[in-house]
Amino acid sequence: MLSNAASINYTPILAICQNNMRMKKAVFLDRDGVINDGTLYYTYKKADFRLNDGVPEALAILRKAGFTLIGITNQGGISKGQYEKKNVDLVHKYMQELLAENGTQLDDIFYCPHHSNLENCLCRKPKSLLIEKAMAKYEINPKNSFLIGDSQRDIEAGEKAGLQSFKIEKNENILSICQKIACL
Ligand SMILES: [Mg+2]
Ligand SMILES: [Zn+2]
Repeated sequence: MLSNAASINYTPILAICQNNMRMKKAVFLDRDGVINDGTLYYTYKKADFRLNDGVPEALAILRKAGFTLIGITNQGGISKGQYEKKNVDLVHKYMQELLAENGTQLDDIFYCPHHSNLENCLCRKPKSLLIEKAMAKYEINPKNSFLIGDSQRDIEAGEKAGLQSFKIEKNENILSICQKIACL
């Protein structure tokens, strides 16, 4: 009787623990103002895209510490007709090339093409669906994962997704914060 009760109670808990052990940890990064110069309201041309100081080094430190690295960005200019998805895709390809030249890369980048003035979507930050999609795709455990953003809506989205979230100033060097995350 006792041993039956024990097996009924503990088997599911063991399964959850094993599942958690398989799950990965990640750092989610906003793009404009964190990874690249966010001075322009919209960056959709290669010529305007500049990596911020410290980014390749910071990403390499996180990678070495075992984090999956994922960009999460609102690109509402698509919805407004200011540029197209293909422009965003080209900029992201260029970003990955620049990072690769510096010995690192993001694992993936997810973007919301909608704008709240024009349509009501579930993925535009401060909503968290984009982060949750990425967590499902890469089997990320939010409990040991983080977000870095330069606006309050990034932080809100990260917190909704259960991530410890760090707010920086626009274009602030993320090296020291990433060193800190790598040691947590
Ligand atoms: Mg930003
Ligand atoms: Zn959206």
